[in-house]
Amino acid sequence: MSQESDCLFCKIIAGQIPSTKVYEDDTTYAFKDINPKAKVHVLVVPKRHYGNVAALAKQDPQELSHIVEVAQSIADKEFHGEYRLVFNTGRDAGQTVFHVHAHVLTGEVLDE
Ligand code: 5GP
Ligand code: ZN
Repeated sequence: MSQESDCLFCKIIAGQIPSTKVYEDDTTYAFKDINPKAKVHVLVVPKRHYGNVAALAKQDPQELSHIVEVAQSIADKEFHGEYRLVFNTGRDAGQTVFHVHAHVLTGEVLDE
Protein backbone atom coordinates (compact mmCIF):
# COMPACT_ATOMS: atom_id res chain seq x y z
CA MET A 1 0.00 0.00 0.00
CA SER A 2 1.30 3.47 -0.73
CA GLN A 3 2.22 5.27 2.45
CA GLU A 4 3.36 8.78 3.26
CA SER A 5 6.06 8.81 5.90
CA ASP A 6 4.81 11.88 7.76
CA CYS A 7 1.09 11.01 7.60
CA LEU A 8 -0.63 10.25 10.91
CA PHE A 9 -3.30 8.03 9.38
CA CYS A 10 -0.79 6.07 7.26
CA LYS A 11 1.00 5.34 10.56
CA ILE A 12 -2.26 4.26 12.20
CA ILE A 13 -3.08 1.97 9.25
CA ALA A 14 0.41 0.46 9.44
CA GLY A 15 -0.02 -0.16 13.18
CA GLN A 16 2.84 2.20 14.07
CA ILE A 17 0.42 4.29 16.15
CA PRO A 18 -2.26 2.46 18.16
CA SER A 19 -5.96 2.84 17.35
CA THR A 20 -9.21 1.16 18.27
CA LYS A 21 -10.14 -0.82 15.16
CA VAL A 22 -13.80 -1.03 14.18
CA TYR A 23 -13.44 -2.65 10.74
CA GLU A 24 -10.70 -3.67 8.30
CA ASP A 25 -10.45 -5.25 4.88
CA ASP A 26 -7.86 -5.24 2.07
CA THR A 27 -8.41 -1.60 1.08
CA THR A 28 -10.12 0.08 3.99
CA TYR A 29 -9.62 0.69 7.73
CA ALA A 30 -12.06 2.11 10.29
CA PHE A 31 -11.21 3.21 13.83
CA LYS A 32 -12.66 5.25 16.68
CA ASP A 33 -12.00 8.98 16.64
CA ILE A 34 -9.80 9.95 19.61
CA ASN A 35 -12.01 12.99 20.33
CA PRO A 36 -15.57 11.77 19.65
CA LYS A 37 -18.21 14.32 18.62
CA ALA A 38 -21.08 11.80 18.93
CA LYS A 39 -21.81 8.66 20.90
CA VAL A 40 -20.32 6.69 18.02
CA HIS A 41 -17.66 8.56 16.00
CA VAL A 42 -15.68 6.38 13.61
CA LEU A 43 -13.17 7.43 10.95
CA VAL A 44 -13.20 5.35 7.76
CA VAL A 45 -10.09 5.65 5.59
CA PRO A 46 -8.66 4.08 2.46
CA LYS A 47 -5.41 2.27 3.17
CA ARG A 48 -3.93 4.00 0.15
CA HIS A 49 -3.05 7.64 0.79
CA TYR A 50 -5.19 10.32 -0.89
CA GLY A 51 -5.15 13.90 0.40
CA ASN A 52 -8.86 14.55 0.32
CA VAL A 53 -12.21 13.24 -0.90
CA ALA A 54 -11.97 14.98 -4.27
CA ALA A 55 -8.66 13.22 -5.03
CA LEU A 56 -10.18 9.91 -3.92
CA ALA A 57 -13.28 10.43 -6.06
CA LYS A 58 -11.13 11.15 -9.10
CA GLN A 59 -8.52 8.44 -8.63
CA ASP A 60 -10.49 5.61 -7.01
CA PRO A 61 -14.27 6.15 -7.10
CA GLN A 62 -14.85 2.49 -6.26
CA GLU A 63 -13.05 2.96 -2.94
CA LEU A 64 -15.15 6.04 -2.17
CA SER A 65 -18.26 3.98 -2.79
CA HIS A 66 -16.88 1.24 -0.57
CA ILE A 67 -16.26 3.74 2.25
CA VAL A 68 -19.95 4.69 2.10
CA GLU A 69 -20.86 0.98 2.34
CA VAL A 70 -18.62 0.58 5.39
CA ALA A 71 -20.20 3.67 6.99
CA GLN A 72 -23.64 2.22 6.35
CA SER A 73 -22.72 -1.11 7.91
CA ILE A 74 -21.39 0.63 11.04
CA ALA A 75 -24.65 2.58 11.38
CA ASP A 76 -26.71 -0.56 10.69
CA LYS A 77 -25.02 -2.12 13.70
CA GLU A 78 -24.98 0.95 15.96
CA PHE A 79 -28.13 2.95 15.18
CA HIS A 80 -30.78 1.47 12.83
CA GLY A 81 -28.82 2.52 9.76
CA GLU A 82 -28.90 6.27 10.35
CA TYR A 83 -25.78 8.41 10.46
CA ARG A 84 -24.02 11.60 9.42
CA LEU A 85 -21.13 11.29 6.96
CA VAL A 86 -18.64 14.20 6.88
CA PHE A 87 -15.55 14.79 4.76
CA ASN A 88 -13.85 17.99 5.89
CA THR A 89 -11.99 19.18 2.79
CA GLY A 90 -9.31 21.85 3.20
CA ARG A 91 -7.84 23.61 6.19
CA ASP A 92 -10.45 26.37 6.26
CA ALA A 93 -13.19 23.71 6.34
CA GLY A 94 -11.69 22.06 9.40
CA GLN A 95 -9.51 19.39 7.79
CA THR A 96 -6.52 18.75 10.05
CA VAL A 97 -5.32 15.36 8.77
CA PHE A 98 -4.55 15.29 5.05
CA HIS A 99 -5.30 11.61 4.48
CA VAL A 100 -8.91 11.40 3.36
CA HIS A 101 -11.25 10.18 6.09
CA ALA A 102 -15.01 9.88 6.43
CA HIS A 103 -16.34 10.90 9.82
CA VAL A 104 -19.23 8.54 10.65
CA LEU A 105 -21.33 10.07 13.43
CA THR A 106 -24.08 7.87 14.79
CA GLY A 107 -25.31 5.98 17.85
CA GLU A 108 -27.66 8.74 19.02
CA VAL A 109 -30.05 11.39 17.69
CA LEU A 110 -27.84 14.16 16.28
CA ASP A 111 -28.41 17.91 16.50
CA GLU A 112 -29.03 19.62 13.16
P1 5GP B 1 -10.37 16.37 10.43
O1 5GP B 1 -10.37 17.56 11.36
O2 5GP B 1 -9.10 16.31 9.60
O3 5GP B 1 -11.63 16.29 9.58
O4 5GP B 1 -10.44 15.09 11.34
C1 5GP B 1 -9.33 14.54 11.98
C2 5GP B 1 -9.89 13.70 13.09
O5 5GP B 1 -8.86 12.85 13.52
C3 5GP B 1 -10.34 14.52 14.31
O6 5GP B 1 -11.73 14.25 14.57
C4 5GP B 1 -9.43 14.02 15.43
O7 5GP B 1 -10.10 13.90 16.67
C5 5GP B 1 -8.95 12.68 14.91
N1 5GP B 1 -7.63 12.31 15.37
C6 5GP B 1 -6.51 13.10 15.40
N2 5GP B 1 -5.44 12.40 15.85
C7 5GP B 1 -5.90 11.15 16.12
C8 5GP B 1 -5.26 9.96 16.62
O8 5GP B 1 -4.06 9.91 16.90
N3 5GP B 1 -6.04 8.86 16.76
C9 5GP B 1 -7.38 8.87 16.46
N4 5GP B 1 -8.05 7.72 16.66
N5 5GP B 1 -8.00 9.95 15.97
C10 5GP B 1 -7.28 11.08 15.81
ZN1 ZN C 1 -1.72 8.86 4.70
